Amino acid sequence: MRYNDTVSQSGEYLRLAIPLLARHAMAANPVNYAVWYEYVAGRNDVLVQEIENLLKQNAKLNETQLAALYQKHVSEFDAEGMKKLSLEMRQLIVSIADMATHSGAEAQKFSHALTDRVQRFNSGEMSVEALRDVISGLLADTTAMRDSITAIQGQLLESKSKAEKLGHELKRVREEVVTDMLTGLLNRKGFSQALDSETVRVSESRNLSLLMIDIDHFKKVNDTYGHLLGDKVIRFVGMTVKDRIKGKDLAARYGGEELAVLLPETSLAGARSVAEEIRRAMATARIQRLDNGQAIGAITVSLGVAQYRPGETHEALIARADAALYRSKESGRNRVSVEGD
Ligand code: GH3
Ligand code: MG
Ligand code: MG
Repeated sequence: MRYNDTVSQSGEYLRLAIPLLARHAMAANPVNYAVWYEYVAGRNDVLVQEIENLLKQNAKLNETQLAALYQKHVSEFDAEGMKKLSLEMRQLIVSIADMATHSGAEAQKFSHALTDRVQRFNSGEMSVEALRDVISGLLADTTAMRDSITAIQGQLLESKSKAEKLGHELKRVREEVVTDMLTGLLNRKGFSQALDSETVRVSESRNLSLLMIDIDHFKKVNDTYGHLLGDKVIRFVGMTVKDRIKGKDLAARYGGEELAVLLPETSLAGARSVAEEIRRAMATARIQRLDNGQAIGAITVSLGVAQYRPGETHEALIARADAALYRSKESGRNRVSVEGD
């Protein structure tokens, strides 16, 4: 858990963060708030330093700067958690190594004892007593060895389950790094990584298309119904998109109220129809207000569609999808535009 401040501590940070939001004329949305919260809490040294530097150059920060700070210093996974995780991992490795050394030493002792007894056999005639000694010694040694093996097996089983637990924890932390907390979709970083790995797979026969989606008049939604409903709308759009894609398709929250969808192995025509379905689903859906549960007017989205051209930069692809999105906005919103139309 990144935040475990007490109620009064967090109340104090809230009291300090609000004037900062006001001074910089910013909406108290979760991103802006999180950045100022971390700033006043003073725990995130690098973030504090970067804000101080920015404040030296500009009296006022803007939301784009805050969004960048958020991506870089806040949405990153919990550094403390990661430190703890690697410490536990190290302890586990040390204990397994100890076990291996210990069992090696036990086995060596056993092997020495056996050699010793074999030598006594080789040294000629043995009395019945001597033979009995050898046998009881052998019995004691094997029992000791068996006990030691049983103990090691138990320890190994325990280590295995610890390693599995740490593996799951690591997976969760790694997923968190690329997940947008509001929608559960990929965040900007996850989107970039997905684009990296998808573009290398593109070939003559394998298409890759991109949808850029922007909520129409979203500022008005926030202004009319408040940011909480605004957030609910973003989550709803995220869910609607997720419901309409499948298989290898990937949806991400690209920015505040903008989503991006990567459609591997999808032609421009295929991408157009996915975009159209998303548009239609949003235009016909009704979202309820948080206070009285009444449905608000339709929330529509505008979409831009482009197809990846092998060899081009990611920026070039995004710019073409953005240009198409811009045409959708220009021509009245609640529309799909495809590059080259
Ligand atoms: P257009 O149809 O041209 O896209 O108009 P718009 O109002 O949607 O566009 P604009 O870019 O002017 O406004 C986007 C707004 O989205 C401004 C910003 O405060 C809000 N926003 C960005 N991120 C979030 C968020 O996480 N939650 C909420 N509630 N609002 C957000
Ligand atoms: Mg926008
Ligand atoms: Mg918008």
